Amino acid sequence: MATARRWVYHFGGGKADGKGSEKALLGGKGAGLAEMTRIGLPVPHGFTITTDACAQYNQRSGKWPTGLEKQVREMVGKLEHASKKSFGGPNDPLLVSVRSGAARSMPGMMETILNLGLNDKSVEGLAEVSSNRRFALDAYRRLIMMYGSIGQGIDREHFDSAFDEVKQTRTRPRLGRVNGKRILDTDVNAEELDYLVGEFKRIYRVHCGEEFPQNPFDQLKGAISAVFDSWMAEKAATYRRIERITGLKGTAVNVCWMVFGNMGDDSGTGVCFTRDPSTGEPVYYGDVLINAQGEDVVAGIRTPMKLDELKTRMPEVYDQLEAVRVILEVHYKDMQDLEFTLERGKLYILQCRVGKRSPAAAFKIAVDQATKGLISSAAARQLVKKKYLPKKYATAATKAIITKDQAIQRIRDVDIERLFYPIIDRHVPLMELESRMLGEGISAVPGAACGVVAFSAEMAEARADEGAKVILVRKETSPEDVGGMHIAVGILTATGGKTSHAAVVARGWGKCCIVGCDALDIDYNAKRMTLGEKLIREGDSITLDGGTGEIFEGEIPLDRPTTSPEYKTLLNWCDKRRRLGVRANADTPADAKKALEMGAEGIGLCRTEHMFFDSSQPERIRAMREMIIAQLEDKRRRALDKLLPYQRDDFEGIFEVMDGRPVTIRLLDPPLHEFLPKRNNKEALQEVAEDLNITVEQIVRRIEQLEENNPMLGHRGCRIAITYPEILEMQVRAIIEAAINCKERGIKVLPEIMIPLSISWTELMILVGRVRTVADAVLKERNSKVKYLVGTMIETPRAALVAGRMAEVAEFFSFGTNDLTQLTMALSRDDAGRFLPDYVDPHRANIFPVHPFQSIDVKGVGKLVRMACVDGRATRKNLKLGICGEHGGDPASIVFCEELGLNYVSCSPYRVPIARLAAAQAVISATRVAPRVLKSNSKPRSVVRPTKARAKAAKKTTRKTAVRKSSKRKKTKRARA
Ligand code: ADP
Ligand code: MG
Ligand code: MG
Repeated sequence: MATARRWVYHFGGGKADGKGSEKALLGGKGAGLAEMTRIGLPVPHGFTITTDACAQYNQRSGKWPTGLEKQVREMVGKLEHASKKSFGGPNDPLLVSVRSGAARSMPGMMETILNLGLNDKSVEGLAEVSSNRRFALDAYRRLIMMYGSIGQGIDREHFDSAFDEVKQTRTRPRLGRVNGKRILDTDVNAEELDYLVGEFKRIYRVHCGEEFPQNPFDQLKGAISAVFDSWMAEKAATYRRIERITGLKGTAVNVCWMVFGNMGDDSGTGVCFTRDPSTGEPVYYGDVLINAQGEDVVAGIRTPMKLDELKTRMPEVYDQLEAVRVILEVHYKDMQDLEFTLERGKLYILQCRVGKRSPAAAFKIAVDQATKGLISSAAARQLVKKKYLPKKYATAATKAIITKDQAIQRIRDVDIERLFYPIIDRHVPLMELESRMLGEGISAVPGAACGVVAFSAEMAEARADEGAKVILVRKETSPEDVGGMHIAVGILTATGGKTSHAAVVARGWGKCCIVGCDALDIDYNAKRMTLGEKLIREGDSITLDGGTGEIFEGEIPLDRPTTSPEYKTLLNWCDKRRRLGVRANADTPADAKKALEMGAEGIGLCRTEHMFFDSSQPERIRAMREMIIAQLEDKRRRALDKLLPYQRDDFEGIFEVMDGRPVTIRLLDPPLHEFLPKRNNKEALQEVAEDLNITVEQIVRRIEQLEENNPMLGHRGCRIAITYPEILEMQVRAIIEAAINCKERGIKVLPEIMIPLSISWTELMILVGRVRTVADAVLKERNSKVKYLVGTMIETPRAALVAGRMAEVAEFFSFGTNDLTQLTMALSRDDAGRFLPDYVDPHRANIFPVHPFQSIDVKGVGKLVRMACVDGRATRKNLKLGICGEHGGDPASIVFCEELGLNYVSCSPYRVPIARLAAAQAVISATRVAPRVLKSNSKPRSVVRPTKARAKAAKKTTRKTAVRKSSKRKKTKRARA
């Protein structure tokens, strides 16, 4: 007979069947417990049931997989042997906890059940060995409550009200405490708890139709099944769908023996981080609660003490904890977050994982870990001397533990994004946060906010008028809520994901927003909500942490982060490491300043039309309209003459800011009708007519002339310059005159004049010719010399197809991937909202893996870009290549740009640091994989030469991989032949 599959992995006594890398099989918690055991940390013995077992269980609709029960029994036997106790036995019983844990942490799954194995007999045994009957009974009532509510789905309310009743009818009279003064859990004595246990068992019986299981194995089996079931529970499944978590088999189940932090003043429980998670300072950071079990931390009954205090109160324990900190950091090479319990002076570690951190801390930790040790040599020596710390860890902990490259790779784009938003004040104690937490949703827009709750947009606006800061709380939002959303400091919704209305709108404003908080229950009529068993009324304060998705009760102090020296250091490392240039899209001198501040090396896209809409100078749009209305060239030219000085001033301002850096200026791009009011807007028409001193009919006639069935494919881009060369002439004159003026003032200018939406070589020839004629004439007039480039956007598929010829006239290409995506896919960005979400949702149509307007569609649009790069460079070796669509700020697209060997990416000023980081990360990962050489589909001659950085990177790869690579290449060659 074939042996059954292995479903369980043991850990304990320095040995573990599993290891840290087996997260998929053992879940995050299980893998952590195994790994910590292996590296010699004091972890209570236990075992992990694999995610495979969970998958099997769910496939077999709730039947335990073959062999699991036997294996669980064997494991329990092993625990009994190691602890020299018997599971749920009458004297000094072995008790266990049952904890869920998938490969990714996931709200909505089963919580932990503690004290499993207690029954009417073993509770007395526990009372005896602990010489504390109250403690034993308290553990028992907790078990019945947790097993009943978490495992069997009994509403917790029943247990809570029974507890309350005992407090009111028994504890209060016994203590003689006046009404109104609170009775704490700890006030309830053993006798009362004994009675309460009876009540809890009765509640259990009433709701489950059977007795609370007295057999420890029945309890264990029930708890394990409950964990398996929770994987498929609505809440967990919804979370996975919204967060797009796919490919996980199920949750693992961790069973480990109970240790007690509530056995007296030499016991306790705590949570800590190996570095300060808010600032990143290399100090041990955390809270301890003496004489308490894990659960009490959350209940927030007592104020915890800081780790620092433990140092003076229990120096030996503190030193052991310090050694644990060092071992964990050296081993995991990253900041860890851990849970521990102290049982009568003996330390146990119950959990560790990579610690969540604030964006500022992410930079500080990465830079610190790459440049210096965690502790001083003296401190390390002390710990070694006390035998708490093995020597090899001590040595490692005094030096840098990661490389600069690793530090760069550690930072995520959201860390940068979040760096500029408000955060929760780091001085707020962890345990206070934990006790005030109401629940968690999906973080849609980072940043923290606190304010009073309003359940409707109107109420939000009314409150805001009174000067209040408002948090708008809705089941979901719709367009009519936008007013209220706008004045709110934060938005919270019960439904929806990262692309819901609330999320999208809030993101546009950079406003703190949490969506999909499905535990949130709103009663619009009664104007109240419940969350985390708390009732919140309109006008009550709450605090949102959009970065983590957590929701807190009351007002929590906020802080505004500032960029730190470490941020600058790390981005400097990125700048040294990256090959791609990073520019910004900026239309005004103010934008340009911002761009420079964010580290842009030039402007990749300056949209000239934005200058005409400056509302502080209505003369601009007036002159523009005059030009559009004019029927005769002569009149048009006169209007353009008025525009010239404005444009020139703007360009001068931008050149001045960008002193010495390239500035790509795009000639007029939108269709002319966009500058006129809508035909049905009588008021605006009247205004414009008066303004221009013409009749409304004249304007309407012109609007009719300009009307198009399909403006996106109409008279726009360089087609306008073909029809009205005088517009191009004015713009080029403004650019060159501005450049000359700047040069005369000692400012270095590098203008790059860009022709939009070109589709043909001949068209480009004509326009480039016109640009050069004007530019050279102006230079001659002023007797000046300025180097300038003329190039084109590649944003139509045809331009990409004929790029080889385009490069004969264009000195640079800039890929306008927004239009290129629209036109390649025949997909209007403005209309796609109705169906595109289905296309990119893995749980619906799942047609595209990524949103094509957010991340470049490498297979389709990317193929055109690649082709244009290869063909363009085959014609003109030093053809400058850049990208200026939204994709220029998207990390995945930047990886693709790196692979293509583009010269630069250009994105909005705020995304510049993200692009700098992504460009460096792209180089680092490219050196690990073999650098790819571009091949044209048709012509073997058009191979883009590897750039310097690429060549260097290639050299750096070890000989071993080089050999592997060459043999691989040979193989593919053979295959092709
Ligand atoms: P979570 O993932 O929510 O942190 P855990 O499984 O880590 O859930 O446990 C919840 C609480 O129970 C924690 O405070 C933890 O320290 C405590 N706990 C879990 N297992 C044990 C155990 N075997 N002995 C003592 N306390 C435990
Ligand atoms: Mg935990
Ligand atoms: Mg365009």
